[in-house]
Amino acid sequence: MATLAAPPFRTGPVVVQPLRKKHCAECRSGPMGLLMLEEGAPRCLDCADLGHLVFLPRGDTALTRRAREESSLSAVVVRFNRRRSRYERQGVLVEEAALARAEERCLADAEARRRRRVRDARRRTAEDVRFTDAFAAEIRRLFPGCPADRARAIAAHASVRGSGRVGRSAAGRALSDVAVTSAVIASVRHVDTAYDQLLMNGVVRYEARLRIAGVVETRLREWRGEG
Ligand SMILES: [Zn+2]
Repeated sequence: MATLAAPPFRTGPVVVQPLRKKHCAECRSGPMGLLMLEEGAPRCLDCADLGHLVFLPRGDTALTRRAREESSLSAVVVRFNRRRSRYERQGVLVEEAALARAEERCLADAEARRRRRVRDARRRTAEDVRFTDAFAAEIRRLFPGCPADRARAIAAHASVRGSGRVGRSAAGRALSDVAVTSAVIASVRHVDTAYDQLLMNGVVRYEARLRIAGVVETRLREWRGEG
């Protein structure tokens, strides 16, 4: 009978969820939800000295591993899958105190991870502020005529994290003149010209850029202090 064949596990005692109703060969109690086979004969967990263990269903790998580490005695629980002709793990039996300790360790980990995320977010915010400050300073260096609040707005816009805008590109990070200038041009285009309106009216992009090129050039010269 397949359910009485020795399950292929070597990880301490193996406990079986029987497919059929069975009674303990020793104390005759049953039918048993879980049993252990000893020399082919089913025994209840009490008779098998596993009655004090609690069942932890499979699914949480870290919790399972830790519960088994914490438990001086643990057992693997399996059930025979007839369709696949093999035993499959259903979970483990561990000491209740061990399970409690394992749960605490997992909770502590989750809490540690949460605190770390908060620290990371704070650091990124600080980095963003420093980056935006540096970017604004570069704008003002290249374009001294650009109002400070405008430079700040351009820098903030350009350095929005993950936006893929110029400020976050490698060149932008390096604050190259080209990257800073293209951020300024983009801003002038959208804020100081009819560019967006042209695009909305169906003017193709290169044509719209041509039409506003003069306005952009004038503004850049002005901000460069070239009058
Ligand atoms: Zn028994």
